[in-house]
Amino acid sequence: MDTDTSFEADWHPAVNFEPRRGGLRPSILLMHYTGMASAERAIGWLCSAESRVSCHYLVSETGRIVQMVREEMRAWHAGESFWAGETDINSASIGIEVHNPGHGSFYPPFPEPQMQAVEALSLDILARHDIRPERVLAHSDVAPARKEDPGEKFPWARLAEAGVAVGCGVLRREAEDLNAGYLMRIRTGRPLVCLKTATTLDGRIAARTGESRWITGPEARDRVHLMRARYDAVMVGVGTAAADDPELTCRLPGRWPRQPVRHGANSTRPDCHRPGSRGSRVRT
Ligand SMILES: [Zn+2]
Repeated sequence: MDTDTSFEADWHPAVNFEPRRGGLRPSILLMHYTGMASAERAIGWLCSAESRVSCHYLVSETGRIVQMVREEMRAWHAGESFWAGETDINSASIGIEVHNPGHGSFYPPFPEPQMQAVEALSLDILARHDIRPERVLAHSDVAPARKEDPGEKFPWARLAEAGVAVGCGVLRREAEDLNAGYLMRIRTGRPLVCLKTATTLDGRIAARTGESRWITGPEARDRVHLMRARYDAVMVGVGTAAADDPELTCRLPGRWPRQPVRHGANSTRPDCHRPGSRGSRVRT
């Protein structure tokens, strides 16, 4: 079968694809790395039914281009993701898997022959689908909590010079927001601290029997779990830690890359809050 690109490419059909949904046409070019030991293995995986994934193209380290899904179809490469109001990134994009073993392995640089092929294929796709250069994105751009490919070694500047990607000031506000903790540390030397507090109107959070009650709804609790997934550490009073021993982990569905470190913070020991213990503390 003929490939969609006019560049020399092999056709290796995948099985996981379907028509694009909602009348969407490709307006994003999404870059990935394979994260697998070899390009051959990655092709085998992306074309197998059991993988539940696929991609339009793969570019090997030698610059060989393999097409696996027709550009008009919806390949399964982005997963749960989001960009500029769009949540069905698979329906809105064409995906290129640039073979590289990735961060889980030794993450080598992307070789020149490979990047020449990526550059040529990208320019060809952008021209044929009228995709704007600033819509050439990394998988990590559209799924920042889950993905880090193609990673910091991917030569965006080289692609930008060739007219594939605009490098500067795009989505600056979103980037600042996403990296707020890091930027605060670099600019001021201080950590970014977020205070979360809640109380009832009468200042009590337990029933008359002493049994504690939720005072927030499911949306607020989901938000708290999302905060836990984004922050490095959670500080609680040691009294709370001693009484409840809360896990303080992110328990939203899905795989979260990390959990915050739990930190007890108080100037006094937990037992001094218990009736009758105050005297003993004074004596020590
Ligand atoms: Zn990816």
